[in-house]
Amino acid sequence: MRLNPLTGRWVTIVAERAERPSHFVPRQPQVGADDGGPCPFCPGNEEATPPALETVDEAGSWQMRVVPNLYPAYAGKTGFVVQHLGPVHTLAEASGIHEVFIYTRDHFSGLHLLSDRQAAETMWALQRRLTEHAAEPNVRYSQAIVNHGREAGASVAHPHAQILGLPFVPGEMLEEERAFGRFEGGCLLCTTIEAEAAVGHRMVFQDDDVACIAPFWAGTPYELLIVPQRHESHLQRAEPDSAAAVGRAIRDAIFQLNAAVGDVAFNLGVHTAPHGHTGLYHWHVHVWPNLVTQAGFERGTGVMINVVPPEHAAAALRTLHSLA
Ligand SMILES: [Zn+2]
Ligand SMILES: [Zn+2]
Ligand SMILES: [Zn+2]
Repeated sequence: MRLNPLTGRWVTIVAERAERPSHFVPRQPQVGADDGGPCPFCPGNEEATPPALETVDEAGSWQMRVVPNLYPAYAGKTGFVVQHLGPVHTLAEASGIHEVFIYTRDHFSGLHLLSDRQAAETMWALQRRLTEHAAEPNVRYSQAIVNHGREAGASVAHPHAQILGLPFVPGEMLEEERAFGRFEGGCLLCTTIEAEAAVGHRMVFQDDDVACIAPFWAGTPYELLIVPQRHESHLQRAEPDSAAAVGRAIRDAIFQLNAAVGDVAFNLGVHTAPHGHTGLYHWHVHVWPNLVTQAGFERGTGVMINVVPPEHAAAALRTLHSLA
């Protein structure tokens, strides 16, 4: 068992199971629009989405668009007002922001195919959105995510991310904040990348700006953690070079993941400190491939069983990196 210091939860690595024949399912192809109609995110169909909040243009045409989600999970400026309807019925307005970030005009592109420039622009656009979110009094925390593939929850095939501004700080983030506060050796993630650089065998790649590791405490096969070398709590406050390097690292990580295990479904989450947060935190990106389904034991206990030790995953990904 290994302790995940970010969550305070134990994970279980069962290496022997990796010797069994692989049951990893390839992602269902998701080509074209799902309902057979035109893709709402493709150039020429801009009327299918609300007017853009922000565009990145080049040579007279848009390269990236951020639009309000047509079906927002969070909307409005009410703020976090809790109502008690009864002894066990507590509710609050789901106010906040829900945006779709169409980071490429190419329907058949993806994070793994971005140019250096596009990878940088993606992160810079995200920084600008988070800055706007932070200026909204009712938005306490913003979560950027990418769901790739139907199994990972993507409902539109066109490559896109989502940026959600929440009226509260969610539990996962509270746990990480507590973890940073509890850790006695300085910054938890600065220490992690230092320690992994020293031993080397869970490091997938690193340079002066960014490190990509298969974390010691990985709960799922090929889980990855991308950490900027420059300590900064909030992504929107990171140096442009540092943010750009993380964008390129995301691209390279997904590219290598594809090469190692195929075009798998995955979830990606950007973790940045809650907007009003002033304590110790270090922004980072999680990549969680959907190679296995969470089963009864994981649901029942919250304990993950990982059949691919992160050392094996890092070795497989590193081999590909040296070939590239
Ligand atoms: Zn499209
Ligand atoms: Zn740090
Ligand atoms: Zn995190």
